[in-house]
Parts: sequence; C-alpha cells; structure tokens
Amino acid sequence: MSRCLRCGSLLTEENWHPSRRRTYYKICKSCYNKEATKTPEQQKVYRDKHPEKRQFWNRKQKLKNKIEVLSHYANPLKCAMCGETDIIVLSIDHINGGGRKHMAEVGSGDSFRYWLKRNNYPEGYQVLCMNCQLRKLNKHLYSILPEVVDMNNYNQKGDENGI
Ligand SMILES: [Zn+2]
Ligand SMILES: [Zn+2]
Repeated sequence: MSRCLRCGSLLTEENWHPSRRRTYYKICKSCYNKEATKTPEQQKVYRDKHPEKRQFWNRKQKLKNKIEVLSHYANPLKCAMCGETDIIVLSIDHINGGGRKHMAEVGSGDSFRYWLKRNNYPEGYQVLCMNCQLRKLNKHLYSILPEVVDMNNYNQKGDENGI
C-alpha cells in the first residue's frame, strides 16, 4: 500500500499514473498536475518552504539503506557480540581493525555503507553495537580494570562477550 508523498492520499490504479508507478514515484495525479503547472522558480519556492519533507525523505532512504547493508552482515540483524537488536545503535565493524584509516578514504556512516553496497558487500566486516565497538576499541583497558576498580561491584560486560 503506497501513499502520495505530497498529500498522503492512497495511491490506486486510477490516481497513480502507470509510468510513475513503474519508477515508483509516489505522487498522485492531482498533486503531479499541480506540480507540473508550476514554473521551476515556483518549485524551488515550494522546496525552500518545506525543507522538512526532503529531510524526512532523505532520512528514510538512509535508514532503509542502513538496514539493507547491515542485513548483509548479520541476519537476523543484531550485534555479533552482545545480541543488541536496536538498529539505531548498530554499526559496521572492521573485523581486523583499520576502520578509521579506511573510512578516512571512503567516508564514514552513510557514505561508508553506500561504499559497501557499491562494492558488493566485501568480507571482513561484522555488525556491532556502539557499546561493543567501544569495548573492542578499549579492550586493552580490561586488564588494568582490577587495579583501579572494585571488581566485585563491576559489571564487566566486555569479558562476558569474549572481547
Ligand atoms: Zn497527492
Ligand atoms: Zn553489542
């Protein structure tokens, strides 16, 4: 079930033009006609007036892309170490390190995920939550912990997760 991106009305055979249906351009006939009669200048005015619509669309696309890319590395989608499933805090980890250097070259976040997709999901990556990313990054600190904290009252998740 699809809805018009402009007015939110349900898209049907009647009000969704076949050519736009093919390209999955979600806009109903009446909204399309309204837009088609606008000059480029008027269209720009509309865009400038409603930046939130573009932003909403962009965010949705990026989130969809994140889920798609991460699902290639974890299915079901969860952290490889602790099992966290909240997509918002999950990320791609370079299993053998070198992530910082690599992402300086190809970009981080969304750019990095688009890079993985463009390169057909190369091996050497896994899904970790941000907590486990930090645990992995700071694993050398776990051996020092007993010297600075009372381990009887310390919940050492990193050790539990075999980092
Ligand atoms: Zn519409
Ligand atoms: Zn985790």
